Amino acid sequence: MNFELGEKEQALRDEIGQFAKEELPAGWVGASVLDQECRDWEIEKSIAKKLAQKGWLVMSWPKEYGGRDASLLEQTVYEMEIGYWGIPGAFMGISGTQWVGPCLMLFGTEEQKKKYLPLIASGEPDGVWCTAYSEPNAGSDLANLQTRAVRDGNEYVINGQKVWTSAAHRSRWCWLMARTDPSALKKHRGLSLFIVDMKSPGVTVSPLLNYYGRHHFNEVFFDNVRIPASNLVGEENRGWYLLMQALVFERRSLAPMTYGGFKRVLEQLVQYVKETQYEGRPLSQSPVIRRKLADMAIELETLKLFAYQLTWRLSQGDIPGYESSRNKVASDDLVRRIAIAAAEILGAYSQVDPDSKWARLNGIVQSSYLGFPGQAIAAGTAEVEKSIIGQFKLGLPKSY
Ligand SMILES: Cc1cc2nc3c(=O)[nH]c(=O)nc-3n(C[C@H](O)[C@H](O)[C@H](O)COP(=O)(O)OP(=O)(O)OC[C@H]3O[C@@H](n4cnc5c(N)ncnc54)[C@H](O)[C@@H]3O)c2cc1C
Repeated sequence: MNFELGEKEQALRDEIGQFAKEELPAGWVGASVLDQECRDWEIEKSIAKKLAQKGWLVMSWPKEYGGRDASLLEQTVYEMEIGYWGIPGAFMGISGTQWVGPCLMLFGTEEQKKKYLPLIASGEPDGVWCTAYSEPNAGSDLANLQTRAVRDGNEYVINGQKVWTSAAHRSRWCWLMARTDPSALKKHRGLSLFIVDMKSPGVTVSPLLNYYGRHHFNEVFFDNVRIPASNLVGEENRGWYLLMQALVFERRSLAPMTYGGFKRVLEQLVQYVKETQYEGRPLSQSPVIRRKLADMAIELETLKLFAYQLTWRLSQGDIPGYESSRNKVASDDLVRRIAIAAAEILGAYSQVDPDSKWARLNGIVQSSYLGFPGQAIAAGTAEVEKSIIGQFKLGLPKSY
């Protein structure tokens, strides 16, 4: 089997590389997309608009919704290049471009598609979404969520609290999961998905700083927030099934960007060990260092193939059962192992702030190291993903 890219995809890759060289500030690196989004919001906004103008932001969407009917393979190549160059802007609207938009295309009303899809495709701040599933007592056990949505005439009234809501402070729209039937026999059967305008009266966003001081996620409170009934997505009480699809889209999106970002980290490390001397010899001659780098190369190659395989399945119109969970676990493991091994190679230089004069490789190792625990939790922990793989790949019964 030949895994080389075709001419069209190679041309796209070159064009994105050229774009990165022209548009990004000198020395720009961004292995950790999470970190990057917090660092410079102005660059995020300006590059998002340019990505949209290029027709890249949602390239595989139909033209009528702001895409350019590109193939899923082209989109995957784009995502890998975004990761490689650390191009900002794509992450600012990741909820919208990667799962809200695709879900609306599958389950939304015509009115919802016409209103929200072009907004997402525009790359404007008014098209930025956050995703509000998790609550203080509902993470892995998401079906336990308590936020209520009660129908009142032509509206729903929302009350409750969400937590860990990424980018809520940047978002105009919220993709919200709430309980509509508290008496349902099974918890997951009483849930529904809604679109909430974050400017609605009664919405309060409260920042949560992560352990290295970045403002990435938030608490969001809903106090008698009224939304039109037409903001229900799909059928009432069937939200769980839409959520499963949304999570497949979300988990799928991680591998290509991770692959691209950490391919660059590996390239930089290879350069570093060639140029750095230890006891009079280049680090690159050390068998220990060489084995670490070879392990990284193997894992990267595996992740790339996983990403292509899933893209291929989706392009055949299949709904993948377990592959997006597999790719999520593989991405998270790769990020963790590369971050730790890279920190070991850099030694004390990996222990300073990325902005320090003593930082190496533009701080790419530090931000990867700080970011990997969060990445492994967001969108489902390894335990949850492996449980899905057990059920859908191995045919094990549901876990308790
Ligand atoms: C950087 C970041 C961004 C996030 N962004 C968002 C967002 O935008 N929107 C949103 O809704 N949420 C977001 N989250 C929340 C995330 O989805 C949850 O943190 C995650 O689902 C885990 O839930 P929890 O934190 O409640 O942990 P818990 O569910 O309490 O899990 C704690 C530990 O127990 C393990 N565990 C739990 N249940 C089982 C089981 N049945 N079997 C085996 N092990 C189990 C878990 O794997 C984990 O190791 C984000 C989290 C992070 C870190």
